[in-house]
Amino acid sequence: MTNPPVCDYEGSDYQSTFWDQGGRTYEDRTEAIALQRLLPAGGHLLLELGAGAGRNTPRYIGFDRVVLLDYSRSQLEQAQQRLGSSDRYIYVAADVYRLPFVDGLFDGATMIRVLHHMADAPQALGQVRRVLKPGGLFILEFANKLNLKAILRYWLGRQTWNPFTPEPVEFAKLNFDFHPVAIRDWLGELGFAIEKTLTLSHFRVGLLKRIVPTGLLVFFDSLLQWTGAWWQLTPSVFVKSRLETGSPRRPDVPVDFISMFKCPDCGGHPLVDKKTYLGCPSCGKKWGVKDGIYDFRQPL
Ligand SMILES: [Zn+2]
Repeated sequence: MTNPPVCDYEGSDYQSTFWDQGGRTYEDRTEAIALQRLLPAGGHLLLELGAGAGRNTPRYIGFDRVVLLDYSRSQLEQAQQRLGSSDRYIYVAADVYRLPFVDGLFDGATMIRVLHHMADAPQALGQVRRVLKPGGLFILEFANKLNLKAILRYWLGRQTWNPFTPEPVEFAKLNFDFHPVAIRDWLGELGFAIEKTLTLSHFRVGLLKRIVPTGLLVFFDSLLQWTGAWWQLTPSVFVKSRLETGSPRRPDVPVDFISMFKCPDCGGHPLVDKKTYLGCPSCGKKWGVKDGIYDFRQPL
């Protein structure tokens, strides 16, 4: 059903093994600082693509409402436990390549540590463009193939792929690193104007992380993040861009937010709320609704 392939975190304990017990405090805190620097003071509706277990969601404090989207239902269940049930959060299990939303809907979108798993990055970015309002803000994090470690390994002959060429590298199945110029080109072609670039994880080196206090590494990383405006040689890069044109502006989401959904298969809209599912008026498909999660991966 899904094409290109999707990296599925269903049933994964990613949050606890990678973040909570994985020695990633440094990375997590540098991301918090970058988001603080890139997020607007306020906004109405934000789309968090690849929200996972909601690690970053509490950082989007300026937005009235956040749609957490992930392909994995179990990740969204973990996010529900973390964030609690509130009207502020809407949980959607869906494929980034087939977003189940009407055009020109969101004031902002974030995609952090997600493009990393995209076999067709331009197609995914095109979907983001489609659902953003004109003037909408997009914060994208990508894994940078042009990082110092990769460059050194390449020069020493310990790595076969070339970090200087623009094409993505799939270094493990469905794990991609991207060249900063390719990212800029794709965003530019889609009508995004880049406003700010920050580089993160300058000190993602096992030995340093073990011997230098985390707070000190975070402090120096936060200073160096601004050098992203001139060069990008770190493994992680944040880009803030704004959609200059786009789909016609539509009125802000009404209280009944069901009207923001459309059928991901045929584009049918508005979907009919049958409580346990949303029915498509055009193709008749039924999209499941269970325990507060709207599921657009496979019809019932
Ligand atoms: Zn349909």
